Amino acid sequence: MVAGTVSFRDRAPSRSTATDATVRHLEPERGRIKLSKNMSLTGRSAFHLLAKPTGAICNLNCRYCFFLSKEDLYPGSSFRMSDELLETYLAQYLDSQMGPEINIAWQGGEPTLMGLDFFRRAASRANALKRQGTRVLHTMQTNGVLLDDEWCTFFAENDFLVGLSIDGPREMHDAYRVDKGDKPTFDKVMRGLSLLQKHRVEVNVLTTVHAANAGHPAQVYRFLRDQANARFIQFIPIVERKNTTGFQEGSEVTERSVTGAQFGAFLNGVFDEWILHDVGTVFVQMFDVALAAWAKQPTGLCVFSETCGNALALEHNGDLYSCDHFVEPKHRLGNIKKRHMALLANGDQQRKFGRHKLDSLPKQCRECDVRFACHGGCPKDRFIETSDGEPGLNYLCDGYKAFFRHVDGPMKEMTELLTRGRPPAEVMRARRATRPDDVPP
Ligand code: SF4
Ligand code: SF4
Repeated sequence: MVAGTVSFRDRAPSRSTATDATVRHLEPERGRIKLSKNMSLTGRSAFHLLAKPTGAICNLNCRYCFFLSKEDLYPGSSFRMSDELLETYLAQYLDSQMGPEINIAWQGGEPTLMGLDFFRRAASRANALKRQGTRVLHTMQTNGVLLDDEWCTFFAENDFLVGLSIDGPREMHDAYRVDKGDKPTFDKVMRGLSLLQKHRVEVNVLTTVHAANAGHPAQVYRFLRDQANARFIQFIPIVERKNTTGFQEGSEVTERSVTGAQFGAFLNGVFDEWILHDVGTVFVQMFDVALAAWAKQPTGLCVFSETCGNALALEHNGDLYSCDHFVEPKHRLGNIKKRHMALLANGDQQRKFGRHKLDSLPKQCRECDVRFACHGGCPKDRFIETSDGEPGLNYLCDGYKAFFRHVDGPMKEMTELLTRGRPPAEVMRARRATRPDDVPP
């Protein structure tokens, strides 16, 4: 969550991590964007950026990964961000951001393939380039396979928040998260997690929801909470379009994808467990988002905001794209070696991209009772028709509707508690009282 939004968290809002399928985007800050000593853009919105120093290159071969096909966009490339581009990127990005904290987000592919020295240079240059009085924070999304004590020491010393992908217990994780030799990765990822925890690195666990784990919400959630000791969890639906381009095209999905109904039932199953035992101690991004919506606050997540377009993706060669889900030629804004990223991020093409989320909302969404929380979801998933044949409905609509309706009562109760200055965790008391036999598992 971001400063100024409602959260179940009882401490300062946690930083955001990049995700492999969806991104926890920072809410744009408003104000003046300083481009250089003598150039500024007043009143335009700031933006968040995911940097992909290895492009789409990864050491795993997760069967549902949409990044891998993006390799084809850059035939013959080394897929390594040069030190020269790293300098340009950091200088422009730090120059574009306002506020006391600046978040530098690393994503892939698999960013650790760049090697630790690259990130040592990045952290050091970011500290040298930042404005006086600002604090630089880093986030990295990783599969965790290459982590060792040296990496984790570095993360701890340099304020990195690490997003780690775990899809649940062994059999569910290994269903799709395999290496290049098709071998399971569960043990390596859990080893990475315990190293991160040993070094007290702040970790967000990212769990994709797909055909192999969607039917087991309680099992997945209890595993993450009790075995993985995860305290910050994001659930990301796998909606994998079936086509040969790897772009957001076509309306068929693969058999690995979750259906809307499955995703809704999964979220509801997790919520039912969480609302009895874990409010205020385990933080599930989707529940934070819902609470913010019920409390009429910004959700801080582009997927459930009215418009988007403030979360861009930077490729290894300096190409800037509208969003990490739209790394496609028609959504390439330009290259930061030729044009300052703030100008690209605030240009007409990007504004149109962000506005399209609202402008293309079908009537069914405009009249929907949970629109205030859903806002039609992410445009990448809007490829089915409404009941009256209008295109552009979200493939996950059934699930979003089921979830947001399911949590309406408890969200109202928690909003009411917040209004009275009480912790939302008190919502558990009444529920436990009506279910005296339900003790934490
Ligand atoms: S298309 Fe928009 S809503 Fe979807 S992930 Fe990108 S920025 Fe967020
Ligand atoms: S629940 Fe469905 S109809 Fe309602 S806003 Fe979301 S996508 Fe649209």
